[in-house]
Amino acid sequence: MTSSRTILAACALAIAGCAPLPGARAPATAERLYDIDCGENRTADLSPWTTPADKGKPYAFANNCYLIKHAKGWMLWDSGHPDSYASIPEGVPNQRRTSIAVMKKPLTQSLREIGVAPSDIGYFAMSHSHADHTGNANLFAGATIFMQQAEYDAAFGPEPQRFGFNPANYDQLRGARIVKLQGDHDVFGDGSVVIKSTPGHTPGHQSLFVRLPKSAPVLLSGDFVHLRANWDARRVPSINFDQAQSLKSMQEMDAFLKQTGARLWINHDAEQAQTIPKAPAYTE
Ligand SMILES: [Zn+2]
Repeated sequence: MTSSRTILAACALAIAGCAPLPGARAPATAERLYDIDCGENRTADLSPWTTPADKGKPYAFANNCYLIKHAKGWMLWDSGHPDSYASIPEGVPNQRRTSIAVMKKPLTQSLREIGVAPSDIGYFAMSHSHADHTGNANLFAGATIFMQQAEYDAAFGPEPQRFGFNPANYDQLRGARIVKLQGDHDVFGDGSVVIKSTPGHTPGHQSLFVRLPKSAPVLLSGDFVHLRANWDARRVPSINFDQAQSLKSMQEMDAFLKQTGARLWINHDAEQAQTIPKAPAYTE
């Protein structure tokens, strides 16, 4: 028979698991998260990112940058295609000629509409160093920059092209204030904005967790996953640095999403991108 004391103890445990205990402080949050349209990657053949069944299927990947407003300053996550591409409406083929990069509106113009100049960005990080994420990186050389050591070594080492990187996009960061990371990093020290190490797509790929004041936290994927269908199938694209590492990162992020109740915003998923408010609107 169950004693009343056991039942009371079970209730206390259940309550602790579901809601903050009386007197517990709510977790710190950022103030706003802006999703900025940073162009598209148009391909005539989706299959390298998905499965051979998609051979010859065209797709226009979304490409986003994200701006975080925190009490301690502005942080930019990823920097899209180069703003100069905005004057080339037909777009620019990528290095491997697997897709065409299109920039509809310059990032600097989107920032201006929010009321922010590149020099206002105090903190800058990129999910990884591929060209669709580093296009405007040189504009933010004055910020404090967060990079995984493994990504830094690949991007600034002797053979960046071996990893599919275009160093001209980010060469002005070489002398910048770069904080080299060996894993996760709490950007503002209050748990509201946390860089998560998710290697695999590139050697030092990373993702960003953001707590918000009025809605569930968000995990910005970077490219540890490209599309919802890939996430559901735990599928890794053929264009990838380390398949096993990528699968491990996906499994870890699955557990992290369940633990935090965060939503996964998949950077390149065009269907999901249409459901997220675009800057100058924002999510709180
Ligand atoms: Zn990408």
